[in-house]
Amino acid sequence: MADLSENLKSLGSHLDRLRSRGILNHIAGKDSPAVSGATFETRSPVDDSFICNVARGSEADIDQAARAAKDAFPAWRDMPATERKAILHRIADLIVERADEIALCECWDTGQPLRFMSKAALRGAENFRFFADKAVSARDGQALPSPTLMNITTRVPIGPVGVITPWNTPFMLSTWKIAPALAAGCTVAHKPAELSPVTASILCEIAQAAGLPDGVWNMVHGYGEEAGKALTEHPDIKAIAFVGESRTGSMIMKQGADTLKRVHFELGGKNPVVVFDDADLERALDAVIFMIYSLNGERCTSSSRLLVQETIADEFERRLIERVNAIKVGHPLDPRTEVGPLIGKGHFDKVSSYFEKAREDGAMIAAGGKRHGEKGWFVEPTLFTGATNGMRIAQEEIFGPVLTSIRFGTEEEALAMANDTAYGLTGYLWTNDITRAMRFTHGLEAGMIWVNSENVRHLPTPFGGVKASGIGRDGGDWSFDFYMEQKHVGIATGQHQIPRLGA
Ligand code: NAD
Repeated sequence: MADLSENLKSLGSHLDRLRSRGILNHIAGKDSPAVSGATFETRSPVDDSFICNVARGSEADIDQAARAAKDAFPAWRDMPATERKAILHRIADLIVERADEIALCECWDTGQPLRFMSKAALRGAENFRFFADKAVSARDGQALPSPTLMNITTRVPIGPVGVITPWNTPFMLSTWKIAPALAAGCTVAHKPAELSPVTASILCEIAQAAGLPDGVWNMVHGYGEEAGKALTEHPDIKAIAFVGESRTGSMIMKQGADTLKRVHFELGGKNPVVVFDDADLERALDAVIFMIYSLNGERCTSSSRLLVQETIADEFERRLIERVNAIKVGHPLDPRTEVGPLIGKGHFDKVSSYFEKAREDGAMIAAGGKRHGEKGWFVEPTLFTGATNGMRIAQEEIFGPVLTSIRFGTEEEALAMANDTAYGLTGYLWTNDITRAMRFTHGLEAGMIWVNSENVRHLPTPFGGVKASGIGRDGGDWSFDFYMEQKHVGIATGQHQIPRLGA
């Protein structure tokens, strides 16, 4: 892998290109500035330096994008699925061709370390290939004969949809939502996060180069309260696929109520990792560290609450402190870096506020707990010990490289604590007792659970959360359940008696 100076050099040429024209909206196959002419700046969290100007779309731009998606819908819906499949595979091919550029830009725009982002583009390409292959059978249904009818079901795409994505891993998440929508036969209006607009724009460029018809994928940049809100309220948009904070999900549900929007929400988490004393503690330690300090802890599935059994807690926490203190914080384009800067000042302030909250609530800062360096939005990887589950550091999503360690005595206590949160996205369990694993996973309130493993995504499995962590599932066929409508047709198979009124 190239070193920091080589990576900075390669990044430079991509930045020149971005700066020369700025990031524009993409509507009905054309790149255009916002209708109002307004722009905003995107800056790098590494040193707060200017990256480029971005079109600041609002209601008028969303209206154009939604109309373009509506106009393009019938032809895209009716295109033979094999042709849609071929276009989606071409998008995947072009993502792979531009993978280095995507990785470098993603790191510079978001602060994510290259060691994780170098694979992000390839994972995005995989998302397109997976759903491209499924496009051909997406409309398949069932035959459900009754005594008098042949009942058949089929699925049809719901129509133009709105996709709203967050700033953490924006490239991967955009592909994750948009690939199944296109495979289902929907057209899309996408509003990427204002804090990380760069790679979403590259993705849209790629889709056009791959031959996606004009209007099938429209992109409007801008702020949530302006462009995002307008998208959720637009009457031509039939559904909203949203990834972001639980609070925003709740606002979107209200905003979409007048137009009866179907919604799919992937929201926040405060996910427990539960370590019992009979577990393989070496592997558990690696997984606990990986699942909170990778991706800067800006990860919805991060295991931000460690529940560790009292019998092993002293030793487990001692080893944890050693490792957390040794995590390499640095420039995201340095391949050795393990933790980079947080996305921006607002988020840096939020994460840092928990250092004080931890002290106020009576926990201890066993590692980190302060800013790292003087420039950029870096914090030190942090570990809170001596915490209880009622503290704010145990209940609120911090979304940074910050772990809260809580001790438990019995399995019942661990389960009660694991469930005692508003969220329910993922859970991680470490034990070598299979019966306990069965019992515990049965009782745990979470959409996704891994036993003796970190989070390993497998595309055919359902992805999503319960409680305040979301509504609906992605992955496999579940994505199509959201982007498509079920249709039933009953055909009489004979001359059954029809009730006669007024005869
Ligand atoms: P956010 O909710 O602030 O913003 C997400 C998107 O919503 C942005 O594009 C924003 O512009 C837009 N938005 C904001 N207000 C809006 C409104 N009123 N109407 C329409 N759109 C609006 O979230 P964020 O801070 O960008 O992302 C971090 C959050 O995302 C965390 O809570 C994290 O857990 C969550 N997340 C969840 C998953 C998951 O799969 N469950 C995955 C990644 C991130």
